[in-house]
Amino acid sequence: MLLEVNPVGGYFLAADLTGPSLCFGIVDLSLQVVTMQTSKELCSQGDKLYTQLRDGLLRLQDDCKIKSRNVLGVGVATPGLIGSDGTVLEADNLGWHHFNLREHLEKDLSSLVIVQNDSNAAAYGEFQYNSLHEMRIDNMLYVSVDTGVGSGLVFNGQLYRGARGLAGEVGHIKVSSDGLQCTCGRRGCLETVSSAPGMIRDYQQKSGRLIESFYELAFRANSGDVLAASVIREAAEVTGVVIANHINMLNLDAVVLGGGVCMTSDLFIQVIREYAKDTLPELREGLVVRRSSLGSQAGLIGVASLSINYLFPISSDVLFPRYAATNS
Ligand SMILES: [Zn+2]
Repeated sequence: MLLEVNPVGGYFLAADLTGPSLCFGIVDLSLQVVTMQTSKELCSQGDKLYTQLRDGLLRLQDDCKIKSRNVLGVGVATPGLIGSDGTVLEADNLGWHHFNLREHLEKDLSSLVIVQNDSNAAAYGEFQYNSLHEMRIDNMLYVSVDTGVGSGLVFNGQLYRGARGLAGEVGHIKVSSDGLQCTCGRRGCLETVSSAPGMIRDYQQKSGRLIESFYELAFRANSGDVLAASVIREAAEVTGVVIANHINMLNLDAVVLGGGVCMTSDLFIQVIREYAKDTLPELREGLVVRRSSLGSQAGLIGVASLSINYLFPISSDVLFPRYAATNS
């Protein structure tokens, strides 16, 4: 007998702290984001940020009139180094150091809570989206380029977490031995070159002109500013080389590019595509390099998917019939 999951049989409360705003959503059992709210800018840190997060989740549930018994779990995607037990080991920008976010939320919300690094969550969200709507991609690298550079890896259909849950710190791969100092304290990390602040700094130093955002840099590049285009191109080249190294090492099916920089700049994506395919020819066969399908929803869907996996530890082929039907 074939049974089907009732999409509205339960909901997940989800939050994404990637920034610049705090993003909340309700995700149903078919992984549709049924409601999304974006709060004001993430201007607080530490205890104040925790209160903003907890109250935002409760308000969302209240606004949508969802009874507590219908909330199956809570998922939070956050920047930083996240331990396997849901402890934020280090998130400098958020003012959290060895802060057990999962434990605090479970106590305050009386619910199952999953905490995951934002890029890992987005990677898993993109993977599930592909599985449900397009094609099965079992081996995938997700790279997010925004105020920082992060990544998540899906191997054989599973999120790869590494020995302590910290895998995916692509932004701290060294690309220059005498480069600029990174937020991690080391020098020459990819993030110092390819993040939005890295490109803005490079443009300002070379042009002597102040600009306010990456959007302005991308606009200038589109409007014929040769220097702006060359700054974006150089950053994308370095990122593309790092991605090509991953492809050579891991034999991926797909690379998905997300984050504000990738969602804004066609030039950045185009150059990454050129460089990412500089691999052994056999490893390029069938390889897809594309922009994120989900944008700012990727992290929300990712943490909801991980919550479903925790609650129902059975194959996705069983849980989502479309998943199997489109790939048989
Ligand atoms: Zn670094």
